Amino acid sequence: MEKIDFQERVRRRNEFDASIVYGTRQFNLLTRRQEHMAFREDNDDLWIDKKSGRIFEKFSEKRNCPLCSSADHTVIFVKSGFPHVKCNNCSLVYVNPILNRAEYEKLWSSEDSWENVLESEHQIKMQALEAAYSLDIAGLYFAGEKKADICDVGCGPGTLLSEAKKRGHRVFGIEPNRRCHGILKDKGIAFTEDFFPLKKDLGMKFDCIFLLNTLEHLRDPLLIVREAGKLLKERGVIYVSLPCIDALVNRVMHEKAGVFGGHSHIQFFSILTLSELFRKAGLKVLEYETIITEIGVIKNYLSFLDPYFGENPDNLDFITPELIYRNHLARNLNMVGRIG
Ligand SMILES: [Zn+2]
Repeated sequence: MEKIDFQERVRRRNEFDASIVYGTRQFNLLTRRQEHMAFREDNDDLWIDKKSGRIFEKFSEKRNCPLCSSADHTVIFVKSGFPHVKCNNCSLVYVNPILNRAEYEKLWSSEDSWENVLESEHQIKMQALEAAYSLDIAGLYFAGEKKADICDVGCGPGTLLSEAKKRGHRVFGIEPNRRCHGILKDKGIAFTEDFFPLKKDLGMKFDCIFLLNTLEHLRDPLLIVREAGKLLKERGVIYVSLPCIDALVNRVMHEKAGVFGGHSHIQFFSILTLSELFRKAGLKVLEYETIITEIGVIKNYLSFLDPYFGENPDNLDFITPELIYRNHLARNLNMVGRIG
């Protein structure tokens, strides 16, 4: 197994870090994120009881900790009417209450401002580089040189799978969002439209299953990872990427950080809590690291500028990508695990 050393990992991660490649303001304008943010603000108004500042009970649903089932928690902040709480037993941060199923489904059938962001050419370019990197890291553990069977749960328009296909792997996507199906067909990627866990037996096992920016959206992340584990071949691996609660951008900005929305991201893992999720799902952690520094956002905020659209922040040269990566403080946590 060939290793990729820290310096090489820094160089590769910087290549798909939009804050570094484009600058934060420039990238957000190019990918039309301001339109998405405006859409979100308009929608949030519909659920919030102006008197209490919280979402209306009729739209919401209470829950226990999705990692340890404890009901004991402390509210750490409220964002867009949604309390974000920390479990007093296992330390997972999760949204409670969340939007109920009826409201959630209404939202997802109407929201396409985020899809517009995802389809911008600059976003696609960054994601393709990130996908190539993720495949290289996962490939350290599933013998990536050879022809492997690769599955992406929530594969979207198939950015990772088309990169895997180019490398000669056999690929399979799971994606319920109709908007992506035409794109997947055009790319010649086999997929199912089913939600995960699947109702039907696929009759396939995989060398690597990717769960990229998926577990933070779903009500039962432990069930998802357990079920994904059942689809692995004997030496197969799971690769998870999700927003890390302990990221520097979140530690500095708290509820002002863009990752906190309320209705969409409903739990936030750390190295500790994601390792615990892996353990409960019967997986051994092979490695973890963080990606996407958000360095421009942090510098804007520390310069009293709009964090996402500010220009010319103070230098603050002591905050470097290396510092962030070395201390596992970037926005997304990537973890690789194997059954056993
Ligand atoms: Zn808990």
